Amino acid sequence: MADTMRAQRFYADSKTVAVEDVPIPEPGPGEVLVKVAFCGICHSDLSLINGTFPSQLPVVTQGHEASGTVAKLGPGVTGWTEGDRVVVAAGKPCLECVNCRRGDVSNCLRLRLMAFAYDGAWAEYTLAQAVGLTRVPDNVPLEQAAILADAVSTPYGAVVRTGQVGIGESVGVWGVGGLGTHVVQLARLVGAAPIIAVDVKPAILERALAVGADHAFDARDPDLGAKIAGATGGCNLDVAFDAVGLGSTFEQALNSLTVGGRLVGVGMSADAPSIGPTALFNLLKRQVLGHLGYQNADIGTLAALVSLGRLDLSRSISEIVPLEQVAQGIEKLETAAGDPIRILVQP
Ligand SMILES: [Zn+2]
Ligand SMILES: [Zn+2]
Repeated sequence: MADTMRAQRFYADSKTVAVEDVPIPEPGPGEVLVKVAFCGICHSDLSLINGTFPSQLPVVTQGHEASGTVAKLGPGVTGWTEGDRVVVAAGKPCLECVNCRRGDVSNCLRLRLMAFAYDGAWAEYTLAQAVGLTRVPDNVPLEQAAILADAVSTPYGAVVRTGQVGIGESVGVWGVGGLGTHVVQLARLVGAAPIIAVDVKPAILERALAVGADHAFDARDPDLGAKIAGATGGCNLDVAFDAVGLGSTFEQALNSLTVGGRLVGVGMSADAPSIGPTALFNLLKRQVLGHLGYQNADIGTLAALVSLGRLDLSRSISEIVPLEQVAQGIEKLETAAGDPIRILVQP
């Protein structure tokens, strides 16, 4: 194996990115070196570049949605063999905080996020904690496996854990891109009905219907409220997912809830939406739930659903760009050229 590899690097002071030669990292105790097959480009990567998210390191390799093959085991690692196909978890529990020490690592108080607190996977190799790896079934393509680490698992966490969507509940999804597309699919899988997609682009609304939405409405339609009421028998939504995170989408989703309905915030921005008068908020018994991420075991659940043909991610990979052209991939996501669900980087 060579000593160096190609890796994208983000420089916090100049907010610039470059692809450079860096040393191939050495796996420490409990760690595995993974040869990256594919790594997605996520809106949160853009948020680091444009300063919406504060930098945690002066220079870092981005990319937190990776699949690949085991290349080298660190000291003490068992159960994995070189060449095993894996998904890399997008975060590392600190293993030191009060929750980690009592075994509640999924609620780590100082969770370190891949590509923010340590180097990510827009690179030929990436380091991972062995305990965070998920084995990929042979019939699941590594392209689809990569997006299980965020674009599909974060919606899984939002639908199943935070939103606790039940069979027959009405669901609305604001923003049907990388996250929202999978919220629609997973809401369908858990039996939500009807599922209403809300976006502003006709092509995206068409696509939402194709992946399982029952209705697709334009967010700017002045009759949107009446249409949602009509589609839900006058009840409005049991659960609304804001996969965009703008003030406008958050408030529109909140105001589409039924009495006792819950809004799950999935998308993020610097906007500060209002819940309106507390009198109305309490009178309508509304719930607003912030959502982040997933539990590592969820990746395995999703991999099994894809493997068994219950979850179809064949439409989810919009484009694959070589590592050397990662900047073009970032720009395509930023400008939403071609309405991508997910663009992948291939080292
Ligand atoms: Zn992400
Ligand atoms: Zn912890």
